[in-house]
Amino acid sequence: MFVDSHCHLDFPELAQDLPQILENMSRNRVGHALVVAVSKPEWARIRELVAPHEHLFCSVGVHPDYLDTEEPTVEDLVNAAADPKVVAIGETGLDYYRGSEPFDWQRERFRVHIRASRQCGLPLIIHTRSAAQDTLRIMAEEGAQDVGGVMHCFTESWEVAQAAIELNFYISFSGIVTFKNAVELQEVARRVPLDRLLIETDAPYLAPVPYRGKRNDPSKVVHVAEKIADLRGIPVAEVEARSTENFFKLFSKAASAAST
Ligand SMILES: [Zn+2]
Ligand SMILES: [Zn+2]
Repeated sequence: MFVDSHCHLDFPELAQDLPQILENMSRNRVGHALVVAVSKPEWARIRELVAPHEHLFCSVGVHPDYLDTEEPTVEDLVNAAADPKVVAIGETGLDYYRGSEPFDWQRERFRVHIRASRQCGLPLIIHTRSAAQDTLRIMAEEGAQDVGGVMHCFTESWEVAQAAIELNFYISFSGIVTFKNAVELQEVARRVPLDRLLIETDAPYLAPVPYRGKRNDPSKVVHVAEKIADLRGIPVAEVEARSTENFFKLFSKAASAAST
């Protein structure tokens, strides 16, 4: 079984099609998916969406791209994280690609998420874009290594991957790794230790080749696994087994939820 470690099934283009998406998942042997929150008003809706489905888990967090949105406190995050289906804090992090300095509000929000994660013991889902050095610095300053987590939709260099791994983090690859021009990222996907590797779709965005430009969904994570297997010269079954094992090791609350 494959696991999609990061998707946004509550976004309207996917939520309206949920029965079909769940069917596609089982037909493609994608056993589980983690539905990741991006804003606070969404939390209740996401928890409701995943509640009846043993194949789905969720997170709570507020994405760094959302400037004018309800700001979460440590307490808000910790309280919401008590839900048995909430297995992680995020997505959080830094994104300097859009907007412009000052980004103090992003850095402060990121710190709040790391503090909440340490308090409730759930791992972090980190988004970083054009901000790798600040992301790593704040992770270290706030002790993110004590809880660990995942650098999702990884697009940074091997040096950044190594630094994140040293901080007890996993590296998750999306459909971007299948893109023809992603040469440097493909090199990173060759080198990341198999016990630190996760796969994701980030659906509805970033559909892997051969679906590039189309709507993405968790069943397409299989193409990410196939590309990584191809790059490393190993059977896809090995990428499948290792990434699934890593998922349930990192998101250990999902392992207990799945077995009950
Ligand atoms: Zn993201
Ligand atoms: Zn995302």
